[in-house]
Amino acid sequence: MEQVKIDGLAAGAQKICITGHIRPDGDCTGSCLGLRRYLLDGDVSRQVDVFLQPAPTVFSFLDGFDQIREYDGGRYDLCFVLDVSDPERIGENAACLKQADRVICIDHHVTNAGLIPETYVKPNAAATCELLFDLMDEEKISKKTAECLYLGLVHDTGIFRHSNATRHTMEAAGILMEKGIAHAKIISDTFLTKTYLQNQLLGRALVESILFCEGRCIVSMISGRTMEFYKAKHEDLEGIVDQLRVTKGVDCAIFMTEMEFRVYKVSLRSNEKVDVSRVAAYFGGGGHVRAAGCTLSGTFYDVVNNLSEQIAAQLDG
Ligand code: 5GP
Ligand code: MN
Repeated sequence: MEQVKIDGLAAGAQKICITGHIRPDGDCTGSCLGLRRYLLDGDVSRQVDVFLQPAPTVFSFLDGFDQIREYDGGRYDLCFVLDVSDPERIGENAACLKQADRVICIDHHVTNAGLIPETYVKPNAAATCELLFDLMDEEKISKKTAECLYLGLVHDTGIFRHSNATRHTMEAAGILMEKGIAHAKIISDTFLTKTYLQNQLLGRALVESILFCEGRCIVSMISGRTMEFYKAKHEDLEGIVDQLRVTKGVDCAIFMTEMEFRVYKVSLRSNEKVDVSRVAAYFGGGGHVRAAGCTLSGTFYDVVNNLSEQIAAQLDG
């Protein structure tokens, strides 16, 4: 693994595509655009296309953001799949994998089952962006690439607050800062600043939250009707589960979004005890020990009951 470098992996490839998971977050968007910029800086004659679902507009300052599109055909010498634990998480853009001579997955999810044969997975990396940083030549990282990678580090560590942030994460962030990026502005504009709508949804989710398991778990939900009422997008719910998680006494936080009638996208977070990647994987999802997700069907109470059974088994075990 140590010998592997992006320059070696991409050597000789002229047509390269990059994709990531559905509903791209900061790490997914940052890693795809950061790798794109790095590959183009290495060889301007290359074609490098990024196929993702629309990414949050707060990331639009990143180099290449306006080039992001959905896959609509074409063959590639090489396809990079980033921040993806399971090809099913790519969605419709996964069609590009079949049209590439070689597919390489770079990821940091503990639940990555290695379904893509050439997979580089490092579960103790805080972010896919950290892993990419390790695979890049430090001197060849431009300011534009650094902005992308820094964004991923910031978002997957909750601004270096989560337990996944290591000395190495901080050192990588420090090196990226020295590339001259507006690091404080990236944090403020993409992570801390909330729109009025986002704050209203956060407020609702907090007011309507329910404690259970003697206060060790908390759950809240935003219904499809509420989403429609506010004309909200999925990205407007970013950060709600993290606010639930910091409730005193709580170990495990659940935030559910109704995507279709009685179909919930479930976000799970924990502080110390519950391995939420196991809970999510039990229900067909995945993620990390302290942050994971899955999709479940049924009434709100069915879903909470099913989740709480798995969570309680760990809390009491
Ligand atoms: P979030 O709650 O922010 O959507 O996701 C937390 C973590 O769990 C992320 O690393 C994300 O990639 C992963 N994750 C979320 N939902 C799913 C899912 O349905 N399947 C898998 N395999 N991973 C998920
Ligand atoms: Mn990630």
